[in-house]
Amino acid sequence: MTTTARVFQNYIGGKWKDAVSGENFANTNPATGEIVGYFPLSSEADANAAVAAARAAFDKWRLVPAPKRGEILFRVGELLKQHKEELARTMTQEMGKVLKETRGDVQEGIDMAYYMAGEGRRLFGYSVPVELPNKSGVAMRDPVGVVACITPWNFPMAIPTWKMFPALVAGNTVVFKPASDTPLSALRLVEIIYEAGLPEGVVNIVFGPGGTVGEALLHNPDVAVISFTGSTESGRHVAIEAAKSLKRVSLEMGGKNAVIVMDDADLNLAVEGILWSAYGTTGQRCTACSRVIVHSAVRKQLVDMLVPRIEHLRLGNGLDESVDVGPVINASQLTKIHSYTEIGKNEGALLVTGGQVDNEGELAQGHFYRPTLFTGVNPNMRIAQEEIFGPVLSMIEVSSFEEAIAVNNNTKFGLSSAIYTQDINRVQQAMRDITTGILYVNSGTTGAEIQFPFGGTRGTGNGHREAGIAGLDVFTEWKVVYTDYSGKLQKAQIDE
Ligand code: NAP
Repeated sequence: MTTTARVFQNYIGGKWKDAVSGENFANTNPATGEIVGYFPLSSEADANAAVAAARAAFDKWRLVPAPKRGEILFRVGELLKQHKEELARTMTQEMGKVLKETRGDVQEGIDMAYYMAGEGRRLFGYSVPVELPNKSGVAMRDPVGVVACITPWNFPMAIPTWKMFPALVAGNTVVFKPASDTPLSALRLVEIIYEAGLPEGVVNIVFGPGGTVGEALLHNPDVAVISFTGSTESGRHVAIEAAKSLKRVSLEMGGKNAVIVMDDADLNLAVEGILWSAYGTTGQRCTACSRVIVHSAVRKQLVDMLVPRIEHLRLGNGLDESVDVGPVINASQLTKIHSYTEIGKNEGALLVTGGQVDNEGELAQGHFYRPTLFTGVNPNMRIAQEEIFGPVLSMIEVSSFEEAIAVNNNTKFGLSSAIYTQDINRVQQAMRDITTGILYVNSGTTGAEIQFPFGGTRGTGNGHREAGIAGLDVFTEWKVVYTDYSGKLQKAQIDE
């Protein structure tokens, strides 16, 4: 391991700063074990300083005309585009997913920058007729204040942009607490935001553990909004703690997403969709497919087609363009994933392929897990119900369309579903009866586009959505202004 890795700092109120403690933590490459950099091990004092800087910047930033705020975001988009390859490589080094996927992650940030830049010239409110003469009414969006963005490691650039860009265009200021596994991508994003001309203090970044830095943000009275993406366990805690000071909280959490393969499906298409959804990002997407619900008429054929393709997937360092599947994020996640293989075997599911840590040859220093498939899975087994967040797929056999829908909907999560069928009637029924926030028809469970609302039901979310116009709601406060120009007191709803 190298000891010459660079030491980075927090960025608070327009200044680079060490943690108050003076301590740092190491960020390591999950494919090689090499140290990517050292980052401040911040504490409550650093988090509170960042909130104070964001609070101070808010009074001016909210008065910058929204089109001007949007123009800065447009320049962010241009810079992200210019640096796309470098940012993708940095991301692969610190979190492992293959280059084509880290390029896609940066691209989501570019898309969101352009989209929210456009919102600077919309941010639509509305005006509707009022019931009294010589009176008008208009509903407009105000910024809320300081927004704390707490983000996970699996989309280190996309997810922060989904939070920060709508927050900024609406006139809020930001404290950004990125995942401890991906601080460098977060830091590069903040550098680019400032290169684009953002005024000092409008975005502040604080590195350090969720248990201290994140916790401080949940309790600081000057934080108005918490925008959180991460596990359902952490999200529940965030909601409970933030509720004590009545903060507004948006939660994007776990998933247990399924691909349904009906008896009339194009199986070649289904195999491609399953491989991409289940093993892309090493199964570490919130929208990853971790269940295949297959009609019994095509189960054997699907397994026969899928297994050789799974076994052909090449594991390795994501910087190598010939690699299909990178490492999992860290050692504890590797242990957790493997524990689910043991759970599946003990529950009586059939391990068809994978189910092993791979540390042969070039993989020796990394956290690699063989892409895994279980068949004979009962829908109530833990491997069919709990989020594993790794390359482990459970296949459940059903005998009807109705049973497939029921199994699909029967988890405590509700993010994404997919159905493969050629039957237009089944498509319409699935659109009506599937209870996840996203449904794909004849495509895998991943691939959201930023102009649509993104989020899920049940344990995946708390009713908010990110992206699209809906993504502005959590960062804006509706204000209604009534203007009476009748020159007398008019009383709404009162008969006189
Ligand atoms: P995580 O452990 O819940 O962490 C998410 C973020 O919360 C990190 O920045 C973490 O900091 C912070 N955190 C941890 N404890 C906290 C606390 N007590 N107070 C405040 N913040 C705290 O999740 P993860 O492992 O990074 O990400 C994987 C999970 O995210 C999966 O469940 C996945 O499904 C979900 N996810 C959901 C979506 C979606 O849109 N629905 C998208 C992507 C991922 P540290 O890193 O310092 O621990």
